[in-house]
Amino acid sequence: MSSPRIRSTLAALALLALTALFAPLSLAATAQHYKHPLDAPYPGGMLHVFVDMSRAPDRIFQVRETIPVAKPGPFTFYYPKWIPGEHAPTGPINNIAGMIVTANGRQLSWRRDTRDMYTFHVDVPEGVKQLDLSFQFLSPGNGGQFGASPSTSNNLADIEFNQVAFYPAGYYSRQIRIQPTVKLPAGWKYATALRTESRDGDTIRFKPVRFNNFVDSPLIAGRHFRRVDLAPGASAPVHLNIVGETAKSVDISKQQIADHRNLVRQILALFGSRHYHHYDFLLTLSDQVGHFGLEHHQSSDDRLPTDYLTNNAMYLRAATLMPHEWVHSWNGKFRRPYDLWTPNFNMVKRDDLLWVYEGLTDYWAGVLTTRSGLWTPSQYHDAIAMIAAAMSHRTGRRWRSLQDTATAAPLTYASHGGWINWRRGTDFYPEGQLLWLDVDTRIMQLTHGRRSLDDFAHAFYGMDSGSYVTRTYTFQDVVDALNRVVKSDWAKFLRERLDYTGNKLPETGLARGGWKLVYTDQPSAFQKATAGVRRGLNLAYSAGFMVAGNGKVYDVQWDGPAFRAGLVPGMTVAAVNGKDFSTGLMKQAVTDAVKNKAPIRLLVKNIDQYRTLKLDYHGGLKYPHLVRVKGTPDRLDRILKARK
Ligand SMILES: [Zn+2]
Repeated sequence: MSSPRIRSTLAALALLALTALFAPLSLAATAQHYKHPLDAPYPGGMLHVFVDMSRAPDRIFQVRETIPVAKPGPFTFYYPKWIPGEHAPTGPINNIAGMIVTANGRQLSWRRDTRDMYTFHVDVPEGVKQLDLSFQFLSPGNGGQFGASPSTSNNLADIEFNQVAFYPAGYYSRQIRIQPTVKLPAGWKYATALRTESRDGDTIRFKPVRFNNFVDSPLIAGRHFRRVDLAPGASAPVHLNIVGETAKSVDISKQQIADHRNLVRQILALFGSRHYHHYDFLLTLSDQVGHFGLEHHQSSDDRLPTDYLTNNAMYLRAATLMPHEWVHSWNGKFRRPYDLWTPNFNMVKRDDLLWVYEGLTDYWAGVLTTRSGLWTPSQYHDAIAMIAAAMSHRTGRRWRSLQDTATAAPLTYASHGGWINWRRGTDFYPEGQLLWLDVDTRIMQLTHGRRSLDDFAHAFYGMDSGSYVTRTYTFQDVVDALNRVVKSDWAKFLRERLDYTGNKLPETGLARGGWKLVYTDQPSAFQKATAGVRRGLNLAYSAGFMVAGNGKVYDVQWDGPAFRAGLVPGMTVAAVNGKDFSTGLMKQAVTDAVKNKAPIRLLVKNIDQYRTLKLDYHGGLKYPHLVRVKGTPDRLDRILKARK
């Protein structure tokens, strides 16, 4: 086995060889695209972009951009392709329309690169000092993932700046400066990590920034707005900025403010450092936009349903989102896998270390949510039990390792269409949590409780406090840092779990934490509390399938009881034992089948044909819970305790 660093060198050599092979065949301008960019100031000068958001409710952003050029001749520019935090080539270029390039008032013809849809070429005429671009970003009305999902409504808008700017090829993005100006719908308020230079009515001019920081600094705006100071008096301020569909939706309670102020204390206690000058949560509460979180150095773009602050079930269910995105300011933004860092947004990023970038972030998100009181320890137990149950039933581990779910992240993020247990999805998040719990409890065991993963947090992220200049790391750097906390064969420990294929769950952190996963026929309190915001019925650990409230089957355990009966994802269960399907009736049938040895009869519809399947399962309902293993140290609850 070669180390990741050696693999990267080989990959770079292979890329050079390919470039050499293709170079003579390409046009001069195309060759510029394949040259490694220069880490030197872009000689053309500063870019300017004006984004007119005044028609945001109509899902139209009108953009004018000027790109200065240093000299006439072939010129190449990009639309950002590899979007940080999305870990995939997902720049929503298909939503760009109407792009016209002019110079000195004359329209220039541009051509798209034949090998890369995000690369554009023009020939700059003599005497031209700048290119003027005019185009629209057409925000989708539905569908799409992450930044490509709907981002506006009649009351609010989110803007990720990678979507509304092109930039010149050939230079590190940090060496390109840009000055953004935004025009908002009349009377809307806004928040962003960008610093305001001047304001004229609804038009806001921001201070010039490096292009990478521009892409890293989204903006939210809306009619209903609230800004809360989460760290009063702190030298590096932290604010929670909220836009929502209604005045009520942004009306955060005193308790909720206190919860999030606790989060500030707990996250700073965990890391003992910070990597922002100021931090702004940009929270959008709307049922009209896509729901996700996207991390940035000095802000996070957090999008949740309209009732997040007013519906206790939703507040509980989504409590980890903001802690997760904020942890990324340390883990992901400041410290980043060496091969996820690229000089610009159009070079290929590699995802093999996402089990650190996302897995460790997700682990700390759950822990910090509990340490800050957003969850009780018992709610954490219930939540981690659900993850452990799901990961224990990942049939796809027989063929696909945890490592591969990360390496293939651009594919696993797009794993839809059922069979999620067998295909596996982005398991480096949930199984990543179990992996880091395994590491944390192992450190505690080896040091007799004197050290924990908190020591790793201080050591690995504690340098350069106050700086947000990224420091990269390799697999070996992670191993070395763990060895400085406590000596052990960490490389073997991690690789045994990451590369494992087989039937068992390779992570054993729950047991080492003093707890055990069990199943009963009753859901946990957390499951009950959040049942209203979960879809359908999860029988994955019993009859072996998951079904929506309308009977549509969305997952079937490979080789499980339902699978053997002939059920597959995409079918609709129309009737259970001769009666119209409902989730209540389905649960009752599973319960009754414990005593009644007759198979459960499912009338299913597959495309346009009906048939009856016999589900021969008699094990009853199974819901995951954690229980203490008596006589063992309770390391898990020590991890969950608030830090002083
Ligand atoms: Zn994340």
